[in-house]
Amino acid sequence: MKNFLKKIFTSKPQYDLDSIQGIMNIQIPKYKPLQGMGNPSNNIEYILQKKATEHKRNGRMDLAIACLRKSNEIFPHSNFSWPEKDYMRLVEYLKQDRQFDEARREELKIKELFRQFELEQQTYNDRINREIYGNTDIVETNEIAFVCEECAKYTKRRFSISGQSRKYPKLPEYLLKKLPEHKHCGIMVYPVLDGVSEPVWNYKGDLVKYCNRPFVDERTKEQKELFEKEVREKEEAAIDKEFYDIIFEKCPDIAPKSFSGYRRMKATNSSNYQKILIEAEKRLGYNFYNR
Ligand SMILES: [Zn+2]
Repeated sequence: MKNFLKKIFTSKPQYDLDSIQGIMNIQIPKYKPLQGMGNPSNNIEYILQKKATEHKRNGRMDLAIACLRKSNEIFPHSNFSWPEKDYMRLVEYLKQDRQFDEARREELKIKELFRQFELEQQTYNDRINREIYGNTDIVETNEIAFVCEECAKYTKRRFSISGQSRKYPKLPEYLLKKLPEHKHCGIMVYPVLDGVSEPVWNYKGDLVKYCNRPFVDERTKEQKELFEKEVREKEEAAIDKEFYDIIFEKCPDIAPKSFSGYRRMKATNSSNYQKILIEAEKRLGYNFYNR
């Protein structure tokens, strides 16, 4: 009896994840909102992601790709907000399966979807800010060292967006735009009720004076070096990935099996790595790293 009850209460919809048709037949579930941080590990889209890894390991790229297509279809309807990198697994699998044009099509679709998400988020934030703060002109920036030299001058202050305030400096306009050259910078701008709420950071003396202190980069040497190092590493990895994708597509006979393998070769500057560079330049007709 106990087992029988247990079966009823724990029974879940049965899925067939071992055939293309079975995977395609999965319906988009109707999710209830997650409470708090939430854990989506029982969600079918998560199970599909894991299953894709398994199919790939077994050499069934067709099934692996079908799983990732289906999970990408479910992601936007989920009760969990899945990051772009999880959507991008489909693109990576398609490349590995040498379906390059299809990979490019899917990548464009994902980029467009995330552009849309960002716009929706922005509209939502604007509405909430208006509701909470009315048409406030005063904003605050956060206390953060992970920023570039320029942004470093503007952290930990209050500003006036319009520049009409007699108390605070005018907010540099670029801080309200998402500029690619500041994509690694962690500076944030948020509205505040000036005169009502205290800044979230500590300061000494008079707040207005403090916000008008000289506009200089106040980071320590270590903080500057850490930022530069991490940005350099991220950009280098992105460039390496671009090169690896090109040789994987155009010169498959000389490309290492995996991107991580390629990066290891590059890090040790092995003779094999040198050979790949020379051969790739010959075949592509240009030197990728010295364009
Ligand atoms: Zn910056």
